[in-house]
Amino acid sequence: MRFFDHNATTPLLPVARDAWLQASESAWLNPSSPYRSGAAVHARLEEARESLADLFSIEPQRIVFNSGATEGNNAVFAHWAKNLVSGARVGVSPTEHPSVIEAAKEYFEGRIVWLPLNECGAVDVAAVNFEELSAVSVMAANNETGLLNSWAEIAEACAKAGIPFHCDASQWIGKMALEGFGICDFMTGCAHKFGGPKGVGFLIAPEAMTSGLHGGQQEGGRRAGTEDVAGILAMLAALESTESKRAECTDSLKEVFWQGLKEALPEVRRVGGDAPALWNTLSVILPDFASARWIRALEKRGFLVSAGSACSTGKEGPSHVLAAMGIDSACAGRVLRISSGWETAETDWDGLLSALLASYEDLRAEASDSNSQVISI
Ligand code: PLP
Repeated sequence: MRFFDHNATTPLLPVARDAWLQASESAWLNPSSPYRSGAAVHARLEEARESLADLFSIEPQRIVFNSGATEGNNAVFAHWAKNLVSGARVGVSPTEHPSVIEAAKEYFEGRIVWLPLNECGAVDVAAVNFEELSAVSVMAANNETGLLNSWAEIAEACAKAGIPFHCDASQWIGKMALEGFGICDFMTGCAHKFGGPKGVGFLIAPEAMTSGLHGGQQEGGRRAGTEDVAGILAMLAALESTESKRAECTDSLKEVFWQGLKEALPEVRRVGGDAPALWNTLSVILPDFASARWIRALEKRGFLVSAGSACSTGKEGPSHVLAAMGIDSACAGRVLRISSGWETAETDWDGLLSALLASYEDLRAEASDSNSQVISI
């Protein structure tokens, strides 16, 4: 199987697997245990915190290890619910991941200001009235479309208005430059989007954050629960590895694929047009047939792609991201999300193009067979 669904999750990188196995043998004690061997594990945890902080050029105390992006996003809204002024209004992009949108609704129902989008589906920063807001949450890169937001500009506007800014950077980290995130008050990341294990992640947060969980005083009182030291070391190894390859990652193979697809199927459309997007992500509206049928046809030919986000699979109705971008439900129902990885080669992209065109023939043949059966009945 050739995997074009890296925005859903990524295979565990060999360096991450090695780091995990090694730490599971040598660092399995509880890092909070009082004896010296526990302190040695604690030291490895703190070294990992320092190395991760270095990658983002921030102070290590700002890193809170947790179980991933869903937890991180929920924790930010729980913290805001406790600490913002009563009646606070929170600005949220309508294209956020459900772990932001649902957390916002849980804590700020009736007080969410849905931020305006520009014609390409990114937050229209100039149209946001920061003065009416008490906090803002905008993702760096969208998981369904790959479209990028001007998160640094939004962070600056929030700082100017004196309000906290949260950025869910789960899809950005490992693919795009890490510089500059220190400006965000809160930032979410999770390991399995960049070759690390599932169930481990981190939040960049202020030292004064309140824990969303009730329990122990781990992570400076900001996240109760024993840290997964092996998972954290594996996450760090994965990020160091993707960082070392990042300079070579470009969208050139994706663009060749897109040109080939357009030539073969002139009615195909690209979600977001030519707006800045992650180098690995292409979201297309195909001329015919529901996304689920394309996914099945491509899987039969050895390629895994997606329609939208993995967590919305099986959900009724069109994607909230595409709806917020003004894409009608008929078009949204024919969207394929193609997301490559660091190792995806030219031959993989060529293979995908051939498989897609062959699948189109398969689907048309199936459709004309079922039409002729209907006529003969
Ligand atoms: N935020 C974004 C942008 C995502 O793409 C995802 C995963 O798809 C999440 C949050 C949630 O991550 P997890 O399910 O690993 O907690």
